[in-house]
Amino acid sequence: MSFYTEKQKDIAERIDADAVKSNWRDWRWQYRHTIKSIEDVERFSSIKFTAKVREKLVKTIKKFPLSITPYYFSLIDQEDYLNDPIFRQAFPFPEELVVNSCDMNDPLHEDRDSPVPQITHRYPDRVLFHISNVCAMYCRFCTRKRKVGDHDSIPNKNELKRAIDYIAETPQIRDVLLSGGDPFMLADSYLDWILTQVRQIPHVEVIRIGTRTPVVLPYRITDSLINVLKKHHPLWINTHFNHPRELTTSATRALTKLADAGLPLGNQSVLLAGVNDCPRIIKKLVHKLVQNRVRPYYLYQCDLSEGLAHFRTPVGKGIEIIESLIGHTSGFAVPTYVIDAPGGGGKIPIMPNYLISWSTHKVILRNYEGVITTYEEPKRYEPVFCDRECEKCTLQLKLHSADEAIGIQKLLADYDDTIALVPENNDRLDRRRNGS
Ligand SMILES: *Cc1c(COP(=O)(O)O)cnc(C)c1O
Repeated sequence: MSFYTEKQKDIAERIDADAVKSNWRDWRWQYRHTIKSIEDVERFSSIKFTAKVREKLVKTIKKFPLSITPYYFSLIDQEDYLNDPIFRQAFPFPEELVVNSCDMNDPLHEDRDSPVPQITHRYPDRVLFHISNVCAMYCRFCTRKRKVGDHDSIPNKNELKRAIDYIAETPQIRDVLLSGGDPFMLADSYLDWILTQVRQIPHVEVIRIGTRTPVVLPYRITDSLINVLKKHHPLWINTHFNHPRELTTSATRALTKLADAGLPLGNQSVLLAGVNDCPRIIKKLVHKLVQNRVRPYYLYQCDLSEGLAHFRTPVGKGIEIIESLIGHTSGFAVPTYVIDAPGGGGKIPIMPNYLISWSTHKVILRNYEGVITTYEEPKRYEPVFCDRECEKCTLQLKLHSADEAIGIQKLLADYDDTIALVPENNDRLDRRRNGS
């Protein structure tokens, strides 16, 4: 019997006396044996809590349940667990029960932007499709913490069919993002059915899957899952590594299988106090990701969901991290740092300032070293006037119907004479309208 590590062997035997190596690598065994109580945490490790702490932890998981895979559990450094990035992502802290005035139940308004159950339609051309309410591990920093452990169910075909019909009836949707829960908690055949249904819709150009299984349950990436995924290209996968320690041998194997199947891989991280709020940790993380053919995609500012206050950093920490990456390392290793706007405004990119000043013919920029430089703008430039009639334009796109601009893009557009965007309930404009 050879487990990956002695520690894994020890944990497996404590959990299940008959466990063998093949169990450890069986994702269903891992899922069946997820650790869900404080008592089991103590039974399966050398970690011991005082009665007072235990009582607080039990109270915390009553509100926000606990679930951790034996695999992820085995990565914890039990000697220094309180500072351990794995432990902090997986185990409750009593601070979760502290409610701040800025905390919200559904900060991103995912429920309100839902035209039919299971769909969040926020952006013009893409939707989030929640196909599973099940996760192997309950990440303590989950933005959907309100729903965690509520009803570990998988919507049935009828329930999903309504959402699929919505996508089919909405021709602007060209990108469908399967999310959850974790989509990879579905059986291969069910996932295959969903992917087939969505793939059949002619206007859907790409499908994406967001999953944390390569991090918390890498054994889920089986050959038979790969065979399903391969049938539905172009299919993009986004995973969710937050710390370099999560890129283990098992995780690397899972990522290799996915990349070898031609699936472009991205990674979304969340900036978490006490876990990865350090430029060096994030740099190490992005380097390990690109070594595994995973492109760092987003670095999220922690959301305003209830129970996450102790994980939040100031926005300046994120800017400092991006400052330490841009120019200092490969461009494709730098994620976009974003704040997902409370109220459903979507993701807003945040960057250090590189544009220092500007005149009619020069821009003044600074680089990552602090060098200040000038870029001289062209003396002559004939702007192409856009009236949205691509067919008559000298640029050769020849579209039959160009999209209408919205937002700031509308203010910039030649063909639209809107000169201002004004918030709703503006008293000054209400007075004008009412003629008083
Ligand atoms: C994040 C998100 C998307 C995808 O956004 P991208 O910037 O295209 O990755 C789509 N819909 C919702 C509701 C989202 O939160």
